[in-house]
Amino acid sequence: MDILELSAIELVNKIKQREISSREATRAVLDNIEKIEPKVKAFLSTRPEQALRRAAEIDEKIARGENAGPLSGLPVAVKDNICIKGEQTSCASKILAGFKPPYNATLTTKLDHAGAVIVGKTNLDEFAMGGSTENSGVCPTYNPWNTEHVPGGSSGGSAAAVAAREAITSIGSDTGGSIRQPASFCGVTGLKPTYGRVSRYGLVAFASSLDQIGPFGKSVADVALMLNAISGHDQRDSTSVNELVPNYTAGLTGDLKNLKIGVPIQYFEKGLDHEVKAAVEKAMEKLHRLGAHLIEVNMPHTEYAVATYYILATAEASSNLARYDGVKYGHRTEKQSSLIEMYKRTKDEGFGDEVKRRILLGTYVLSSGYYDAYYLKAQKVRTLVKQDFDHAFEKVDCLITPTAPSTAYRIGENIDDPLKMYLMDIFTISANLAGIPGLSVPCGFDSKGLPIGFQLLGKVFGEETVLRIGHAYQQQTDYHTRRPPVLNEESAEVQS
Ligand code: GLN
Repeated sequence: MDILELSAIELVNKIKQREISSREATRAVLDNIEKIEPKVKAFLSTRPEQALRRAAEIDEKIARGENAGPLSGLPVAVKDNICIKGEQTSCASKILAGFKPPYNATLTTKLDHAGAVIVGKTNLDEFAMGGSTENSGVCPTYNPWNTEHVPGGSSGGSAAAVAAREAITSIGSDTGGSIRQPASFCGVTGLKPTYGRVSRYGLVAFASSLDQIGPFGKSVADVALMLNAISGHDQRDSTSVNELVPNYTAGLTGDLKNLKIGVPIQYFEKGLDHEVKAAVEKAMEKLHRLGAHLIEVNMPHTEYAVATYYILATAEASSNLARYDGVKYGHRTEKQSSLIEMYKRTKDEGFGDEVKRRILLGTYVLSSGYYDAYYLKAQKVRTLVKQDFDHAFEKVDCLITPTAPSTAYRIGENIDDPLKMYLMDIFTISANLAGIPGLSVPCGFDSKGLPIGFQLLGKVFGEETVLRIGHAYQQQTDYHTRRPPVLNEESAEVQS
C-alpha cells in the first residue's frame, strides 16, 4: 500500500484502527519531502522531530484506546502566515525573518486538538500578495505538474505540497483567490470558506475584510474533513461568526437532484482560455447528467471586481503593514541614524517590490483628497458586486465558473507585468468581496498536461452545498486522483 496515495479519510481510519501508525505515515511524508523538495520547494521550514514526536503521542493515545481526534495522526502542512508558537512565521518576507510568535493561531490549536501532525510551514507570495508564489522573499515554488511553471499563489506552497504528496492535506489563506487559484493550477481541491467561518486569530493580516483561512486536499471529502476540524466561533476573532458548524462530511450525499446551479455569463466571455472553457463546460454537462439544473445568470458588476479589490486590499494592507517598523518584529536595519531613518531603512530592506507597490497604492487611495474618489467609491462598488450574488442566489443554489482564466503559466512570464497578474484573479476575487464560500475542483488538463479547475461559489454559510456538488462530481471523475510527473522523476533538480 502506498501511504501517500491514501486520502486523508482513509489514512485517518487506518491510523485509528492501527493498521498504519501515525509514525509510519509521518515518516513516509517526511521521506517524500526530502526527495521532492529540491524540485518543488513547497516548504519554508519543516519540523521532522516535532512531527515524529507528535505522531508517536497520537499512536500512544490510540494504543491506550483513547480518541485522538478527527484528524488522528494526519500529516498536514500550514502556510507560513499562520502562527505556530515558538516557530518562525515569516510570511516569506525578509522583514519577519526570524520572528517566532509567542502564541499559537486558533487554527494551529484546532489542528492540534483534532490530532493532526504539522510537518512544516509552506511558501507563499510575500504577505500573501500575489498569484504565483514568485513574490516570495525566499524563493519561488515550482508546479509539480511542470516545474517550469508557477504553482499559482499566494498559497502556492500549500497547493504544491498536497499535489506532490509532501503532505496529505494543507492549510492556506485566501484574500482574493489564494486558495482556489493554486488549487486549480496544481490539480488539487481547495476551499475558501465563508468570511467568519474559520477563525483568523494568529493569521498575519493582509486585508482584514477579505482574508479567510481554508483547507486543501486531494479530494472534496478530504477538504470537508479538514473544514469540520477548523471551523467555528472564536472569541479571539471578533469577525468569526457564532453559527452552528454542520458535519460537512455527513453532507456529502452525492445527491444533486433538483439542485439549481447558476452559470454567470460574464465568467465565460473574453479572456478565457479555450481549453479551460471546454473543460469547465464538460464538467457542467456532467453535473447536469447527475441531476442538477443549469441556469444562466447575469452578474453585471463582475468587470469592476478586480479594480475594486485592488483598491480595498491595498488600502487595508497599507494599514496592516504599518506595524513592521523595525521595533516590534523581525528585521531591523543595521544602518540606523535617526528614528525615522531607522523606520525607512528597515522597510526598504525588509519588504519586496510587490509589497512596497501595494503599500504605496494603498496609502494613496486612503490619502485625503483621494479617499472619496477611490476608497469610498470602491466600497460602494463592493456592495454592487455583493448584490449581484444576492440576486443570483434568489434563483439558484450556487454558481459554477472557471477558477482561473488560464492554466499555470511559465515562471517569469508575467513577473514584470503586475496588471496582467492582477487580471488573473478575475474569477476568484468577487467571492472575497462578497464574503461567500468558493471551492476549486480539478476538472481536466490542457494540451500541455497542466491541470484545470472549476469553481463553485455558494451562499453565505453554503459550504455544504458546494462541497456536496464537488464530491458528487469527484465520484464520477478521476482528475483529482492523478499523480503529477514530479513524483516519477529521479533527477533534474530545479535551481533557485
Ligand atoms: N492574487 C491576489 C493578490 O495578489 C490574491 C491574493 C490572496 O488571495 N492572498 O492580492
